[in-house]
Amino acid sequence: MRALVAILALGLVACSAQPEAEAQSTESEVIRVGEFQVVTKDQLGNELSDAYTDEELSVMLDSRPEELDCHGIAKQGGLVVCQTTPNARVEVGRSENDTYTQTADKNGIIIVGFDRDEPAAFVRVGDARVDFDITPREYDTSRIDGLPKNMVSEYTAEELKKIRAASALKKVGFASKVEDIGFEDGFIYPVTEHIKTTNFGAQRILNGDPKRPHFGVDLAAPKGTPILAPADGIVSLASEEMYFEGSLIMIDHGQGLISYYLHNEDVMVADGQRVVQGQQIGTVGSRGRSTGPHLCWRLKWRGRNLDPELLTAWPAKDAQ
Ligand SMILES: [Zn+2]
Repeated sequence: MRALVAILALGLVACSAQPEAEAQSTESEVIRVGEFQVVTKDQLGNELSDAYTDEELSVMLDSRPEELDCHGIAKQGGLVVCQTTPNARVEVGRSENDTYTQTADKNGIIIVGFDRDEPAAFVRVGDARVDFDITPREYDTSRIDGLPKNMVSEYTAEELKKIRAASALKKVGFASKVEDIGFEDGFIYPVTEHIKTTNFGAQRILNGDPKRPHFGVDLAAPKGTPILAPADGIVSLASEEMYFEGSLIMIDHGQGLISYYLHNEDVMVADGQRVVQGQQIGTVGSRGRSTGPHLCWRLKWRGRNLDPELLTAWPAKDAQ
């Protein structure tokens, strides 16, 4: 509140040379500036361009109180969307010794995702800080036996070459950071009728050996079942040359929130293509390391593995 008063004072200083009546009407507009943290300098300029010079507007914007408001799913595998000052430098951390800095977009929006085993998290902009109470989740154990050895542990030189080529492609796909956020209303299921066979985060045991956890949600459906984009986005990878995945589609839903689709029979999109929620992107298959037709649906945000299914229950805007 103190900072708001400071803005008001600045506004008064800026209009001090103007007649009394005019100063009062611009004064109320200045208060609105303090309340609407989402306005950009451009929008503000249009609204108040008659009242202030660019320089005065810029001084007001720079001295606005730091605002930080997050809503979403603060859970392991979940994510929140935070609203702050446009282009603000936002510190995201697990502890004071483990932080990194990100920049909010031009509307002050920033996504923060929580890994499968995220222990704690906070977001900080200037003096404003939001701490998330991350409750540990319990994960299933998933055993698959009888997989061919060349899909689990032993690879020929030729196979290793294919594995390396595929992981180079994946790196490119995951590096995508589309600016527009395409999931404001959450996700729909990419396969409408399915039987879920594996939950996110299950501890995998392949042919008796513990492996990395399974980061996807497996949705079993007949071969050829349409796969739909769960939300708007840009395809950051569409490849049929993947060793383990068989074929792989990645969609960047904004700020590097990337959902991806494994083992597809058909790939119906191309790199760089814009897709909208509900648009068909491929069909269910069983290519690569797979034991039957299903979609392995995954979600990543800046190296963290998120649970895509959580986003089908994305909270409504007014239920924060
Ligand atoms: Zn899977």
